[in-house]
Amino acid sequence: MDEKFLKKLLATMKCGMCGNQYQAGNVNILGHKEDLWFLSVFCPSCKSQGLVAAVVKEGKVTDVVTELTPEEQKRLSTAAPLTSDDLMDIHSFLRDFNGDFASLFGT
Ligand SMILES: [Zn+2]
Repeated sequence: MDEKFLKKLLATMKCGMCGNQYQAGNVNILGHKEDLWFLSVFCPSCKSQGLVAAVVKEGKVTDVVTELTPEEQKRLSTAAPLTSDDLMDIHSFLRDFNGDFASLFGT
């Protein structure tokens, strides 16, 4: 998977808080497990930080989830940048993730 492609793709998305577009330079790839990629995005306009989960298959993004629970929003907005604890959470999540994306996000 081309990380540049992912960054470019995320840069076309809009901030959930203020509606401004992200920029490729504000997208960080945290890691992936098979087709599921985790990225962090930072909005330069409203300074909010978010986590994005994207399912990438054969060079195409088939699913993107940016909605965070209010608790996550709060935690991320008060803790920028991501702490090593956050990364540990994501890494352990990726390790244990069973690939059932739909049930994970309740879609
Ligand atoms: Zn914003």
